[in-house]
Amino acid sequence: MGMLIATAAFLAATVVAVLIHLRARGTSTPASAPPAGPPCPRCGEPVPASATFCPGCGVPTQVYEVVGAPIAADAGADGGGGEEGEPRMHAVVRADLCVGCGVCVPACPVEGAIYMEGKLAVVNRSLCVGHGKCAEACPVGGILMAAGEAVHQVEVPDVNGRFESNVPGIFITGELGGRGLIKNAVNEGKLAVESIAGGLSKDTAEEEGKDTAGEDDGVLDVIIVGSGPAGLSAGLEAHRRKMRYAILEQGDLADTIRKYPRHKLLLAEPVKIPLYGDLWVADASKETLISIWETIVSNTGLKIETRRRVENVKREDDHFVVEAGGETYRGKRVVLAMGRRGTPRRLGAPGEELEKVFYDVAEMEEFKGRKVLIVGGGDSAVESAIGMANQEGAEVTLSYRGDAFKRVKERNRERLDEAVKQKKIRLLLGSEVKEITEAKVVLSMKDGEETLENDNVVIRIGGEPPFPFLEKIGVRMVRKTVPIPGSDGG
Ligand SMILES: Cc1cc2nc3c(=O)[nH]c(=O)nc-3n(C[C@H](O)[C@H](O)[C@H](O)COP(=O)(O)OP(=O)(O)OC[C@H]3O[C@@H](n4cnc5c(N)ncnc54)[C@H](O)[C@@H]3O)c2cc1C
Repeated sequence: MGMLIATAAFLAATVVAVLIHLRARGTSTPASAPPAGPPCPRCGEPVPASATFCPGCGVPTQVYEVVGAPIAADAGADGGGGEEGEPRMHAVVRADLCVGCGVCVPACPVEGAIYMEGKLAVVNRSLCVGHGKCAEACPVGGILMAAGEAVHQVEVPDVNGRFESNVPGIFITGELGGRGLIKNAVNEGKLAVESIAGGLSKDTAEEEGKDTAGEDDGVLDVIIVGSGPAGLSAGLEAHRRKMRYAILEQGDLADTIRKYPRHKLLLAEPVKIPLYGDLWVADASKETLISIWETIVSNTGLKIETRRRVENVKREDDHFVVEAGGETYRGKRVVLAMGRRGTPRRLGAPGEELEKVFYDVAEMEEFKGRKVLIVGGGDSAVESAIGMANQEGAEVTLSYRGDAFKRVKERNRERLDEAVKQKKIRLLLGSEVKEITEAKVVLSMKDGEETLENDNVVIRIGGEPPFPFLEKIGVRMVRKTVPIPGSDGG
């Protein structure tokens, strides 16, 4: 018996010693365990700081990058720097967002300050003086301006980990929330509707004894604004869950992407961002991507109402009233998936809906050897005309209804004068587009009409950004401090 007790005591002491040893090892060698980040906003599981997806529920971590970032203090609104003694502002390319489109290179006023190395833009720190033109031009928000520190500041709508804004019931997803990339938009659209569905079933459960199944009170479960990748993905999730929904789109299906230059290659995966949403995404031309999305829409029976521009969202009793294109919709929740590009101002001329008409230009090279009419009197119109005129064989006409370019930067005015003098650009002041056809454009001039042979029309007459709209409906904008992953290579 004594022997038995001694053996048990020995074993117990050994177990305790081993446990103490293991615990000590655990704390003395932290390098062996990945550093823990904040818990997953979706499932609450701890997520290692460097993980690309949550080990608990599989949700990609990048979608929470901005949502989880702290609100910045008021000072240093531009990301810091610039004052005497502080580090100089410079561009930083996010390797995890850069899609290698090269738009940043011609946008930079300093030659060689940013260049392409394969499919990645690289900043030469010794030449970059922080103009920020590359950051403005980058279509995916992949370039930031920073002053030495590995953080940047972004102005974004205030949303929580469920993508719900400070206005309860209004959710914000995709690029409008501050993150570029199709994949992020797809992932966020699905996540927002997931949390809406969770919230709605909780509400229903709380309505004790009230049977609302099959009841049609004209109030939809969710109204989705926009049919880009975020809106489509949100819609597919709502459709799959048999929710009552409407998708309202101001233009055509995936209008932002549709407006990219012809054959624009969309890169789905600059780095591994796991695809959590149901919408198909892969490296493909914009035509392929859109045609596959159209097939998904028709195969699933997803309902999208196009040419329905949402103008207002108001709360009325326990639901929202959404005004769009003269119609009124009622919904318990609203998902804003409107992107950041706003609504381009249109000319209102017949033929403006033709595929050859663009409001944005990403790749000037597409216009080599083409007859292009640029319309507008601001910097973007002048810059587009100059960029286009540098393309081999392009015949460029710039049309502006005013008599002089009063709002244009001095430097652009000089470059324009030079291009006109060299006959690279034909300038038609006091002209207005009357009609666009497949092969021609008719302009009304002070002294009559002129018909031009034409392959493409590029309209750069400004637009209405979505932020005044957010403000109008009560969504608060905040400035957040976000760490910069990746490198500038510089
Ligand atoms: C030139 C260019 C190249 C790019 N290349 C790539 C790439 O290679 N890979 C990549 O991943 N990303 C790329 N991007 C970025 C990518 O396109 C965006 O991040 C993505 O489209 C954002 O999706 P979204 O659904 O949030 O917004 P959007 O795609 O902008 O969709 C918003 C939709 O909402 C609609 N809308 C807006 N306002 C209203 C309103 N008031 N009422 C109703 N509808 C409204 C718009 O018409 C639009 O259809 C590129 C962007 C550009 C501009």
